[in-house]
Amino acid sequence: MINVTKSYLPNIEKYKSYIDKIYESNWLTNSGPLVQELEIRLSKYLGVKNIILVSNGTVALDIAYKALDLKDEVITTPFSFVATTSSIVNANLNPVFADINEKTFNINPKNIEKLINKSTNAIVPVHVFGNACEVEEIENISKKHNIKVIYDAAHAFDVKYKDKSLLSYGDISTLSFHATKLFHTIEGGAIITNDDSLVEKIRYLINFGIKNQTHIPYIGTNAKMNEFEAAMGLCLLDDIEDIKSARKNIVNFYEDSLKNLLQLQEHNIYSTKNYSYFPVVFDDEDMLLKVQKALNEKDIFPRRYFYPSLDSLSYIKYNQECKISRDLSKRILCLPLFVDLAFKDQELIINTVKKSLN
Ligand SMILES: *Cc1c(COP(=O)(O)O)cnc(C)c1O
Repeated sequence: MINVTKSYLPNIEKYKSYIDKIYESNWLTNSGPLVQELEIRLSKYLGVKNIILVSNGTVALDIAYKALDLKDEVITTPFSFVATTSSIVNANLNPVFADINEKTFNINPKNIEKLINKSTNAIVPVHVFGNACEVEEIENISKKHNIKVIYDAAHAFDVKYKDKSLLSYGDISTLSFHATKLFHTIEGGAIITNDDSLVEKIRYLINFGIKNQTHIPYIGTNAKMNEFEAAMGLCLLDDIEDIKSARKNIVNFYEDSLKNLLQLQEHNIYSTKNYSYFPVVFDDEDMLLKVQKALNEKDIFPRRYFYPSLDSLSYIKYNQECKISRDLSKRILCLPLFVDLAFKDQELIINTVKKSLN
């Protein structure tokens, strides 16, 4: 069986050597030595100023909204994983959807400004499939209207924009290190910010709002990463260049084979690729279903990602239909992409797609 993704596991002896260290230190969680080491190594590797590791990418979003004291309305994209919207609703904020660009799949800055009113507090864009948003346009809008920007950068591990980390845009960027992501810590995530004044508050918020034994200034939560997760991250970081080059080869072969037959994502020309996903877009949903069925019959399971469009969720209060996102979400499929996807299996996937298109 071939799934859309397969978690990367590092050398087991290396992972065991970290587990031995945890047994020696007897320090399992609460900002232990491995979490601290991973924060230092990631901030260097990614080229970001402040990084705070947390237990997952969803809670990273929750904490970001709390750290910035958001209220009322937040403008976001309808084309993302459900956590982008559900985290906004869970924070008692109202998501307002700005439709996407049909070529880049990212929020269209042209649709953002007309939705801004007195209640607008922030913009929450997503770098969809690791493709950089139009960050400079979004920055201009946020400055003009004095509103915050939180990037859900769950897909954008190690993407550079004009030679600087894409994660350094916005007030806060969040990452997911879930087992299915390009870089993972089993479960995990991170909060990235250039604003030094937010770092202390974020560190208290992830630990129940506790500052010290006598002072609890914030309503916090439990969002701590543990040492076993950090150990996995340290092992993966050693292998990250190999992981990326293997994925790059797979993506290039898909691209060469399918670019004349299917719509592919248009990539931001100012940014690097991280080869995190390989989405293809069909002419209509029937064609997608036909291809999906043909692949499933060969035990190959691509994923309808993202579907449904988030503006159509049952708990979204008022009708704000985003036509482009709804249309795209019905026609888009992510093909299997992981480090040890065998060449002959990839050939089978490509040939099956090609055959069912005719
Ligand atoms: C994976 C993902 C999340 C959630 O991250 P978790 O670590 O699974 O909680 C949020 N947003 C996007 C776009 C994602 O792909």
